[in-house]
Amino acid sequence: MTSTPDALVAADRARIIHPYLPASAEERVVMTQGSGCRVTDVHGRSYLDATGGLWLAQIGHGRAEVAQAAQEQMSRLEYFTSFWEFSNDRAVELACRLTELGPDGLGHVYFTSGGSEGNEAALKMARYYHHRRGEPERTWILARHKAYHGVGYGGSSANGFPLYHEGFAPMVPHISHLTPPWPYRSELYGGEDPTDFLIRELEERIAEVGPGRIAAMLAEPIMGVGGMLVPPDDYWPRVREVLDRHGILLIFDEVVTAYGRTGSWFAAQHFGVTPDIIVTAKGLTSGYIPLGALLVGDHVAEQLTAGDGFPMGYTYNGHPVAAAVALENLRIIEREGLLARAVEAGAGLHAGLEAALGDLPVVGEIRSVGMMLAVELVTDKESRTPLPVRPERMPHDVIRRETGVIVRDAAHSLVLSPPLILDPAEAKEIAAGMRTVLERTRADGE
Ligand code: PLP
Repeated sequence: MTSTPDALVAADRARIIHPYLPASAEERVVMTQGSGCRVTDVHGRSYLDATGGLWLAQIGHGRAEVAQAAQEQMSRLEYFTSFWEFSNDRAVELACRLTELGPDGLGHVYFTSGGSEGNEAALKMARYYHHRRGEPERTWILARHKAYHGVGYGGSSANGFPLYHEGFAPMVPHISHLTPPWPYRSELYGGEDPTDFLIRELEERIAEVGPGRIAAMLAEPIMGVGGMLVPPDDYWPRVREVLDRHGILLIFDEVVTAYGRTGSWFAAQHFGVTPDIIVTAKGLTSGYIPLGALLVGDHVAEQLTAGDGFPMGYTYNGHPVAAAVALENLRIIEREGLLARAVEAGAGLHAGLEAALGDLPVVGEIRSVGMMLAVELVTDKESRTPLPVRPERMPHDVIRRETGVIVRDAAHSLVLSPPLILDPAEAKEIAAGMRTVLERTRADGE
């Protein structure tokens, strides 16, 4: 067993293939502990976790009651399959809870182990639904540029960045990408009202592809990896209306937005729309254990469960330990009023960022919904030109190294999604840490 901190770091460098880590990066930050909004690395350095791990630590790190729920469940029944007629009591309990929390009409649940698996399942459900209803030619999926739907081939193909396609081709066919809602980038809409532009584009695309050939639109209600892109309030209701008119399903990828991050249980409720399928993961367990869940509309479920049943299952569907952890996580979110806290603490953090960063020339826009925030970086406020980034001088890396505040970059924005329990002193520390670095950041990215 590797013992010293330096040996651990060296072993990590030698043995682990990290996603998205450039070969030139020597640095490794090996975490060993977490408590509340803080994590500690193997050298004993403490960090303030303003990204909530990877956008998921709703209840914060190190909750003993979650560990206990897992331990109790593991001692009683660690696993049994959910294929065929089999099930387990925790999965049933969790499915009931989720359908209580979700929008009306989404009365069925399909479990996965994460968000990518969830989107694969949702895409297959959409095509299968139409197939079973006698419209097998409905195979096309509408997605958007700047979208992120995970790493499966279906989700990757729907992703709206070339990075996820280059070197992986051929991608899944029959996916068409639309313009994302990003009001700050008004140039995308040529001076037109963003929603009017986007709805017209949607109608035109449906006409081009053929309304009877489209199965579903797959979309994040707020685009995370794209830079926390928040649509205008009228966008989702109007999209829903167009899709309904053409018999196209709406799949909300709520892997980031569900379980309180927007201040509602689901962003669907925040925006006042009811999708046909909601894909969730991350905040369902706050990351204590891998688990995902799809909330499925009753009309879709009716088709999936007919005949010989839905021919797609994961070994870990409805894993009882993961379900027990999720139930405890949801109990904590409810008991501690974390939905309201997300709104309040998110507004406090937003105001703190405005006060600390608003005057800096490289800060274009600060936007947020609940506890999802972004600081969009530009060369200057006037031109709004995206700030050039240099891999060795990424602002988020410098902020972490110099101040111990962990934020993340996403498409020329710094994005934040701290635990929903963030307190005002921690919010202040985040804003101050970001200012320390951004006030020195020049228009050329130096
Ligand atoms: N969908 C969205 C919107 C995400 O942000 C992510 C991950 O960040 C995924 C899907 C993929 O989820 P996972 O990494 O759990 O497979």
